[in-house]
Amino acid sequence: MNMSFIPVNEPLLNGNEKKYLCECIDTGWISSEGPFVKEFENKMSESVNRRYGIAVSNGTAALEVAIQALGIGNGDEVIMPTFTIISCAMAVTKVGAVPVLVDSDLHTWNMKVDEIEAKITSKTKAIMIVHLYGLPVEVDKILALAKKYNLKVIEDAAEMHGQTYNGKPCGSFGDVSTFSFYPNKHVTTGEGGMIVTDNEDIAERCRSLRNLCFKKDVRYIHDEISDNYRFTNLQAAVGLAQLERLEEFVERKRNMGRYYTERLQDLKGIILPREATDYAENIYWVYGILLDRNIPVDNRMIQKMFAEEGIGVRTFFWCMHEQPVYQKQGMFKNEKYVNAEYLARKGFYIPSGLALTKEQMDEVVLKVIKVIKSVY
Ligand SMILES: *Cc1c(COP(=O)(O)O)cnc(C)c1O
Repeated sequence: MNMSFIPVNEPLLNGNEKKYLCECIDTGWISSEGPFVKEFENKMSESVNRRYGIAVSNGTAALEVAIQALGIGNGDEVIMPTFTIISCAMAVTKVGAVPVLVDSDLHTWNMKVDEIEAKITSKTKAIMIVHLYGLPVEVDKILALAKKYNLKVIEDAAEMHGQTYNGKPCGSFGDVSTFSFYPNKHVTTGEGGMIVTDNEDIAERCRSLRNLCFKKDVRYIHDEISDNYRFTNLQAAVGLAQLERLEEFVERKRNMGRYYTERLQDLKGIILPREATDYAENIYWVYGILLDRNIPVDNRMIQKMFAEEGIGVRTFFWCMHEQPVYQKQGMFKNEKYVNAEYLARKGFYIPSGLALTKEQMDEVVLKVIKVIKSVY
């Protein structure tokens, strides 16, 4: 049988996306001034119980704007997981602040919350929460620390559209929260991101930072510089159509996760994502798999083996303390985070995009069994 290649992610765009996009074209509203942008900001922020939403060009930009809006700058320390996407660290180093790293918890693949307090110094300004792959971080413990030490909290909820922590939406915690709408997220706009907050001053600051720090009264005269991080009406059109189906998408992802687990749970040599913790049920942003420590290959090799079988898989993130760009600058010297290093070398995820069919999942399962049995 000659099955075609199954990509690691394919988004589902068969709702009102086309209709709203046509509306943009028919009305001529394609820039960031179009009416869908505000509507999307309102609906997104409402969906996570926030007062303000500020749409930006991508999730990385959202983190950058959030860090700047909180006034974090030169020499300030921000505590964050070492195991995450580089966007998180970049937003911090870009303003001259210092990422202070924390190891991962092997049960949830998130930052080890119990190791945060020991990292707090007089320079610490904020804690960055990053919920990874499908289970939220233990938010309450972090909020308690932030309160005790008077720290800001930035919540990166890029992978958590529709997820909750103890019944409250991810994206509703801390001083600011950010989202990404990249095509592998539960809500996509092609490229896109958003900052949500309840604080009016921070919201206003984000709006200014998103748009070159234009002043309200005298245009073209600037006291400060940022970047152009604007979000277009075309992106908002797609986002609105996606958001209408969020509940259905979450359900779909959870069913996919359960199905993979059911079919793979007896396979020796791999560790599957935890289905739930006592505060949340896994949302399976992607379906991650961890290779047993005894398997003699790493995730890069596994990715090649799956590619030969016609299956797109992706390795997990690479740790911040092992990034060549930071090592070159002498950062994180001699730092070691054993759990995070294990995840970065042995973790990968299999096709789990919203457009994936049952037939494709069955094919993926057969290939996972074949590949893993060939190395274990
Ligand atoms: C996707 C993602 C981002 C970055 O979003 P972009 O829109 O790709 O810039 C940031 N943080 C996390 C946790 C992500 O998964």
